Amino acid sequence: MTYDMLLIRFGEFMLKGKNRRRFEKSVTLHVESVLEPFPRLKLRSEFGRIYVYLNGESEKEPIQALKNVFGVSSISPVIVCAPDLEDILRTSHRYLQEMNLQDDITFKVHARRVWKGFPHSSHEMNDHVGSLLLKEFQMLNVCMHQPELELRVEIREKKTYIFYEVIPGVGGFPRGSNGKAMILLSGGIDSPVAAWSSMRRGLTMECIHFYSYPFTSQLAKNKVEDLARVLSGYVGEMKVHFVPFTDVQTSFTGIGQDNLIITLMRRAMLRIATSLAEREGALAIVTGDSLGQVASQTLSSLNAIGRATELPILRPLIMMDKNEIIQISKEIGTYDLSIQPYEDCCTLFVSESPATNPSIRALDRIERSINGLQELLQDAFERTETVVLTPNGGGSRAVVDAVQEEWF
Ligand code: ATP
Ligand code: MG
Repeated sequence: MTYDMLLIRFGEFMLKGKNRRRFEKSVTLHVESVLEPFPRLKLRSEFGRIYVYLNGESEKEPIQALKNVFGVSSISPVIVCAPDLEDILRTSHRYLQEMNLQDDITFKVHARRVWKGFPHSSHEMNDHVGSLLLKEFQMLNVCMHQPELELRVEIREKKTYIFYEVIPGVGGFPRGSNGKAMILLSGGIDSPVAAWSSMRRGLTMECIHFYSYPFTSQLAKNKVEDLARVLSGYVGEMKVHFVPFTDVQTSFTGIGQDNLIITLMRRAMLRIATSLAEREGALAIVTGDSLGQVASQTLSSLNAIGRATELPILRPLIMMDKNEIIQISKEIGTYDLSIQPYEDCCTLFVSESPATNPSIRALDRIERSINGLQELLQDAFERTETVVLTPNGGGSRAVVDAVQEEWF
């Protein structure tokens, strides 16, 4: 089948009143950037949609790219003809012929006369096109309610669009349209999914990864870079802040509080993440927590950990089952990287029975009693290295300046 055009429809943000134009512009820019590898395509924005003229290019690869653009709700490959009864009948007939249908299939025509100057009503057009096709193609069986094949005929003043496929896009909000947040990216299955879900909601994300060299290896860090690179494919580029966490982490060992180590670590991570968020102008922290999944994700632990920051903590996966999360990680292309077996700093020095109901007062007391903890947090923050990744490269390291004094 040779299609003339792709019709791109926008998602729920179209209802957003005065922001609508800004949102539409963001999606259009994003669509333009994912279609850059196909120089023959030409775009036109009109009536809250984008039309992409294929100019002889196959529709398949562009559709794959467009399905991942945030804010796109669906895509239809379309055949174009004149707003003329004879041409519409001829083109519909040719279209079905090229589909080469063999088996019985339920069917209806859904015509829409958008241009009221066209001499036949939508209803009449359903009859005209439907009766011709039913006569010519024996395998078609009329069905008005959810037919397998619904041929759509959209008649506009300059052109008529004929199509049947409505391919779902990822939906959500346009890239970067809802502000900035920091994601705590661990290298596991969950946090990359949390990052993608947040980007789909229109958040600009920057990643923060805590590593404990030499207890965690360079390979573990590379894995996080690779994950962030996959995520960058959805938005163009991705910043990752690598925080050296060894000294902070080891300050929690040997103090006789092994079952609280993970809680203390999480609180320390949030404190450093809050400073990075403030420096980068981000207004929330996102994590891959899912309720009850592990000891640090019980309601009581989440409560105790969340006290360490005043920023909102967003947890997109909080109510999801693991298999739903795995499913998404496979779809977004992070699963195979996530299951590589490199250790995360959270698995180090952690007791066999971490607290599931930690006392906030005890945590406050322990943190105050650790000599020099403030300085260790400050030092980790100052030694954080930032990398910018793009789908095909990036990764040059640059040490960034830091100023932060108060930690508690
Ligand atoms: P994930 O699959 O994302 O690693 P998990 O189920 O293994 O999640 P935890 O290890 O308890 O859960 O981590 C919970 C959340 O804490 C992670 O989703 C992530 O947001 C954050 N986190 C954990 N370890 C790190 C790390 N080393 N660097 C940055 N964030 C981390
Ligand atoms: Mg983990």
